Amino acid sequence: MAARGGSAELLIEGVGKRFGDVVALDHVSLSVAQGELLTILGPSGSGKTTLLKVVAGFETPDGGTVKVGGTDISALPPAKRDIGMVFQNYALFPHLTVRANVAFPLEMRNVARTEIDSRVAEALAMVELKGYEARLPKQLSGGQQQRVALARAIVFNPRLLLLDEPFGALDRKLRETMQLEVRRLQRRLGLTTIFITHDQEEALVLSDRIAVMNKGTIQQIATTTEIYERPANDFVADFVGESNIFHGTMSAPGAVTLDGGRTLVVRSDRQAGAKVGVLMRPERFASGGMNQFAGEVIESVYLGTSFKLRLACEGGLELLVRQPARGALPAAGAKVAVGIDPEAIHVF
Ligand code: ATP
Repeated sequence: MAARGGSAELLIEGVGKRFGDVVALDHVSLSVAQGELLTILGPSGSGKTTLLKVVAGFETPDGGTVKVGGTDISALPPAKRDIGMVFQNYALFPHLTVRANVAFPLEMRNVARTEIDSRVAEALAMVELKGYEARLPKQLSGGQQQRVALARAIVFNPRLLLLDEPFGALDRKLRETMQLEVRRLQRRLGLTTIFITHDQEEALVLSDRIAVMNKGTIQQIATTTEIYERPANDFVADFVGESNIFHGTMSAPGAVTLDGGRTLVVRSDRQAGAKVGVLMRPERFASGGMNQFAGEVIESVYLGTSFKLRLACEGGLELLVRQPARGALPAAGAKVAVGIDPEAIHVF
C-alpha cells in the first residue's frame, strides 16, 4: 500500500545484516511516506534497533540500499544524513545545560549565533521546556530529559526523525502523555518518523502504519486497524492484542471446521479444502451471536471496566473472553455461554 502523502521519503530495499550466525535483518524492504509515522513493532531481538542503526548510518548493512528523498544515502557517514534521533537512555551531554544540549546540532552545522538562539528557544517552547534553559540534565526528571532529547533531535529541521523506545524508562502515565505530545509535534512539523517499540499499545496509539517484525523479517506492514483486525498470520495476531487463534480447514464456502472438529460460520470466500487460521478477539464475544460456545469458567479476572474470562468449552476448546463488567464476576466453575458473529471472525 502506498503510504499517506504518496511518494516515499524513506525507502529501504533488500537490507540484510548478519552478526556471525545471527541474521539480524533478512532482506528487509519498507517505505515511509513524507510526514508519516511508521512504527516498527517486534519482540526483543527481532532486529528493530539494527534496522534503525542502518538507516542512521551506525551499522553497515551486508546488502541493500537506503534512500531518502530518492537519493541513496548508504555511503554517507551518520553526521551527513540529516537525521534526528532519540534513544531510550536520553544520551544528553551531562555537563552541558539544556540550552547547550539543544544548541549542539546547530553549532555542528555552523549556524549563526542569533539564529541558534531563536531556534533553540522555539524548540524548547515546542516541548514545553521554556524556563529550563540553564539547568543541567541531572536537574531534570526523566520525562523532561526526554523532552530535551526530542528538542535536540528536531531543532535542525531533520529530514527524518528516528525514535528508539524513547519512553521505555518512563512510568506508564508519563509515557502516555509523551506519546500524545510526540504525535502532536510530529504531525505539526510534518516529520517523517520511524518509531521503535515492543509495546503493542504504544504502537496502536501512535502510528499511521505499523511494521511488525520477527526474527529479522517484516511479517506485515499495514494501518493500525488492519494489523489489529486483519493480521496476516499467527505471529501478528498473537503479538498484537489478545487473541484466540485456531487452525482448521474450509469445509464449505463460509464455514471452517477447526482441527478439533467444531465448525464455525465465517465470512470468507476462501475455497473449500483451504487450510486457514481463525482469529477471534476476546472483546468480540457477546451473549448472542451466530456461533455459540458453552463453557465453564476456569479463570476470571476483574479489570475495572471489563471481566476477563478463560473458558473451557466443548470439544476441548479454550477461549479467552472479555465482557463488560456488570454484576458479579463469574467464579471458577460457573457455566457461561457466549457467541460470536461471522463478521467478527478473521480468517487468514
Ligand atoms: P530489543 O527490543 O531487545 O532492543 P531489537 O529488536 O532491537 O531488540 P536488535 O538489537 O536489532 O533487536 O538485535 C537483533 C539481533 O542481532 C539479536 O539477536 C542481537 O543479539 C543481534 N545483535 C545486534 N547487535 C549485535 C552486535 N553488535 N553483535 C552481535 N550481535 C548483535
